Amino acid sequence: MVRAGILVTGSELLTGRVTDQNGPWLAERLGALGVDVAEVLVVGDRRDDLAGGLRFLADARLDLIVTSGGLGPTADDVTAEVVADFAGVPLVVDAAVEARIAEILRRWAARHGFAGDALTAANRKQATVPVGATVLDPVGTAPGLVVAAPGGPLVVVLPGPPRELRGMWPAALDTAPVRELLAGAPAFTGVHLRMFGLPESEIAQTLREVGADVDLSGLDITTCLRRSELEVDLRYRSVDARAAAEKLVAEIERRHGRYLVSTDGSTTDELVARLLTGHWIGLGESCTGGLLAGRLTDRAGASAYLAGGVVAYSNQAKTALLGVPAELIETHGAVSPEVARAMADGARTAFGADVGVGITGVAGPGGGTETKPVGYVCLCVTTATGQLRAADPVLPGNRTDIRERATDTAMHLIRRTLT
Ligand code: ATP
Ligand code: MG
Repeated sequence: MVRAGILVTGSELLTGRVTDQNGPWLAERLGALGVDVAEVLVVGDRRDDLAGGLRFLADARLDLIVTSGGLGPTADDVTAEVVADFAGVPLVVDAAVEARIAEILRRWAARHGFAGDALTAANRKQATVPVGATVLDPVGTAPGLVVAAPGGPLVVVLPGPPRELRGMWPAALDTAPVRELLAGAPAFTGVHLRMFGLPESEIAQTLREVGADVDLSGLDITTCLRRSELEVDLRYRSVDARAAAEKLVAEIERRHGRYLVSTDGSTTDELVARLLTGHWIGLGESCTGGLLAGRLTDRAGASAYLAGGVVAYSNQAKTALLGVPAELIETHGAVSPEVARAMADGARTAFGADVGVGITGVAGPGGGTETKPVGYVCLCVTTATGQLRAADPVLPGNRTDIRERATDTAMHLIRRTLT
């Protein structure tokens, strides 16, 4: 098994001003390659902290360390130096790299009107690399490095700006030392289960009960709550563990089948997009304020099935734009299953669609009553063929949570209507 650590540098990441985008991204990429990510460490741009981070990871007996940041031209960018020191090799100015960066800088300078000594010094600094390192072509101006520390882990040094780091990743994977190392990583295989509406405690209990009969020790099981969904990842490497995973999946299907969204890794958004093919959908949203329209239009190709949406926040807008009868609102209240249904029907009519969605709820923090507390959301999906699916849950959380969860719930209501 190949074990890796990720060392993210940047003082701005420690203050909370910038959120680390590189650690999670690298962890996900390495995980997909079958590498076991044992540590993700964030340190400031100080020489000692960086060196301490490398030592800490080396002590954890890792095969691979990937660093992010500190490759720029400024004095606080010291990663190349610290890594050279860690690997016990001197630094040299690489003439080919220097020429390559000079060319990038010349083009940049011509566009921006800077030139001269500052640029030359910056260039020289960025072209200074550990002896024997494999140099990765810059995506911005900083070259990346692959450094083999004798007797220690392989160190891949990448730039901090996420766009540059991601752009350089394929080249890093393609270097001989990284290829050689990853050849020893037997790819994990596994099953990815996605569920909606099932509490995590239910899955925990199923795992306990199945575990009493079946040896699950060869399985790497992780559960994660995201977008109102419970994701269960089962990973295995051996044939025995695979058989155990199959038994577990069969039992989960038997017990919790109606909550299962997918077993092949498909996301809800992918499923909804697939199911909407050949349909035309119109949306009437109140408390979600267009979040459902945003969610559907996140995907390229939405124009094939999304007619449009109306944010009908006021009662007048519900009546004028979605044809919700004023008396219906008067009788049942703006947040009611009746109004949600009328909004779904109205959205269908307004857009000449065959599928309509209506959402109305109390997002809070104010406005809750005894019978309609904060978090009470009425959702309805209706179709031209007379199908109707409705839900009126009381969703937990603050205003943001409630609006997001209402959007998630609407996605699943659409999915179940069209399945
Ligand atoms: P540069 O040549 O741009 O200086 P660099 O490799 O030295 O490249 P850093 O100085 O560490 O990179 O970071 C440059 C900028 O990139 C930071 O100010 C920050 O905005 C962004 N950045 C760096 N690391 C991260 C990270 N882990 N997550 C998100 N943004 C980051
Ligand atoms: Mg920098």
